[in-house]
Amino acid sequence: MKKFIYLIFAFLVVYACKNESKEVPENIQNESEKAEFSIIIHGGAGNIKRDYLSEEKEAAYSQKLEEAIRVGYEILKNGGTSLDAVQNTINILEDSPLFNAGKGAVFTYEGLNEHDASIMDGKTLNAGASAGTKTVKNPINLARAVMDDSPHVMLSREGAETFAEEQGLEIVDPSYFSTEKKLKSLERIKASEKNKVASFYDADLQDSKFGTVGCAALDKHGNLAAGTSTGGMTNKRWGRIGDSPIIGAGTYANNNTCAVSSTGWGEFFIRGMVAHDISALMEYKGLTLKEAANLVIQKKLSELGGDGGIIAIDKNGNMVMEFNTQGMFRATMNDKGELYIGMFKD
Ligand code: ASP
Repeated sequence: MKKFIYLIFAFLVVYACKNESKEVPENIQNESEKAEFSIIIHGGAGNIKRDYLSEEKEAAYSQKLEEAIRVGYEILKNGGTSLDAVQNTINILEDSPLFNAGKGAVFTYEGLNEHDASIMDGKTLNAGASAGTKTVKNPINLARAVMDDSPHVMLSREGAETFAEEQGLEIVDPSYFSTEKKLKSLERIKASEKNKVASFYDADLQDSKFGTVGCAALDKHGNLAAGTSTGGMTNKRWGRIGDSPIIGAGTYANNNTCAVSSTGWGEFFIRGMVAHDISALMEYKGLTLKEAANLVIQKKLSELGGDGGIIAIDKNGNMVMEFNTQGMFRATMNDKGELYIGMFKD
């Protein structure tokens, strides 16, 4: 009888362990799935459809996205910080006339190019931003300098330009940012009826796209960072500032949750506090990055009437690209060196 009781006891112990071990692999699996590092970028959302993009254009965008993401990838692979990866990746996109940032910035109503940018460190929750500058070649560098070398989070216009000069950042003549293509977009929008309202994105226009650039990265030290750089929206007026330099709307990073960069109709992203909202849903409601991004873009933003998208990366290196437009220029690279480039919805 005693033997029998021992046997039952032994069976119960084995059974309990077996049940427990069911959960262990899942945890281990999650741990082992944690990427050592990863990086994701966007080059704007909008009416990006296969029929609207020539093969040459598609190749040009693809090549530039790849060039940019590889810069950040190398930094991360060599143990560099997510902040450096984000900044240097964005520099490549800012120097290209293809995107609405840096060199390729869109025109204001007055025929000028005014830049906004921001960057955030997920480890310290430190952040830097600049708004409405006209002479700083790489606005993301200014945002970084505001974060690292000033007691402030956001600087604007002439004051920000003076600070940039003092920091030794590259200053250019405003004419550097003038590109014929973006000037034509301004002329077209001004000639259209829609000019009478302060609405600058036309979902009916074939080539209507936002073109802002952004990057989010997780480094080998487990730190997240995100950054965004833009020329804003064509025909913007009255010193309009969009979401891109606004921490919580255009950019957000928090090591506890995720790093996010937005692109789209800025007014809606500000009203929806899109980037922070995604992080908050993860932090307070326990949603995954995928669930949070989907809810915020496909439901909240869409119901508000906003167009655009986000790229984001969570603390385990999971990456998400969510948009409610026809397409979004985007790319990802993981720690295995696998590259993905996307433009269209499919
Ligand atoms: N979000 C930017 C803005 O409203 C535009 C863009 O994404 O291209 O200024």
